[in-house]
Amino acid sequence: MIYSTIIIGGGPAGLTAALYASRAELKPLLFAGLAPGGQLMQTSEVENFPGFPEGILGPDLMMNMIKQVEHFGTEIKNENVTAVDFSSNPFKVISDSGTFLAKTVIIATGAEANWLGLPNEQRLRGHGVSACATCDGFFFRDKDVVVIGGGDSAMEEANFLIKFAKSVTIIHRRDEFKASKIMLRRAQDNKKISFLMNTEVVDVLGDKVVEGIKVKNKVTGEEQVLNVQGYFAAIGHTPTTKMFSVAGVEVDQKGYVVVKNNTRTNIEGVFVAGDVNDHRYRQAVSAAGMGCMAALDVEKYLAEKE
Ligand code: NDP
Repeated sequence: MIYSTIIIGGGPAGLTAALYASRAELKPLLFAGLAPGGQLMQTSEVENFPGFPEGILGPDLMMNMIKQVEHFGTEIKNENVTAVDFSSNPFKVISDSGTFLAKTVIIATGAEANWLGLPNEQRLRGHGVSACATCDGFFFRDKDVVVIGGGDSAMEEANFLIKFAKSVTIIHRRDEFKASKIMLRRAQDNKKISFLMNTEVVDVLGDKVVEGIKVKNKVTGEEQVLNVQGYFAAIGHTPTTKMFSVAGVEVDQKGYVVVKNNTRTNIEGVFVAGDVNDHRYRQAVSAAGMGCMAALDVEKYLAEKE
């Protein structure tokens, strides 16, 4: 059997692509990975996805999306794709359960926030530990929070968080910033944002929620505990693209898939949607929007071919 389209990735981008592709009667196959739903499965309340005036839990939102695409006939496999072969059409998509053929492929494998790897960082995720101020900043009204990193993301997260938080401390491991001057200045000009330089985080503290962090000055070796309720990692993201670049898909210096024409990649018949292409917006709703665009582009491409 040759599928019209195989979608790789089970987050908002992949599922929205599947929604449009299945409603266009393309009968898509979607590989959702071993933990379907993408990054939102690790979030608690989502209040910035339109249509939910009271907000919705991340996992509930994703389960709704999964139900919706299944209703329209998307076949979902909760398996990881291990390799792809785009050298000839039909393309080959390989998972643990076999090799699947497709006329088109939509890459929607997303990107993962980088974490420091501290002993208690993952345990407190969703309980004061986050990597997305736009998603979770609202919950830190009048709280003291820290942002880790010295790039544009750290400055942007800090500038966003300070709209809600009582104070934001940016903790950076060096004494120079990677951030652009304008973003840095905006943070420096805000009296409620302070900086701890040459400082590394030793661990996040707290039983059920974040109650503080332990930091160490890299020059003096001195350790101290900061009483904060929020911890935001802003040390970059890593897109999941290795197997695609090996298969000839063009990626940029940081590994993000390069878009050639709307959602088309450099390989004819291979399309892309969501955070795997987007290091800038990284929102569920923008990923979903691009999933829609990719499916429409696939539909048009197939119609032109046939
Ligand atoms: P960057 O790679 O630019 O910066 C990452 C920061 O995290 C660096 O300061 C780095 O430190 C620090 N870091 C990395 N690993 C660790 C670690 N293990 N422990 C402690 N600190 C660590 O990533 P960003 O996400 O900030 O930005 C990515 C891209 O997106 C950039 O091109 C940026 O310009 C862009 N962007 C643009 C925005 C805008 O224009 N509005 C907003 C956000 C991002 P060190 O400096 O020592 O390497």
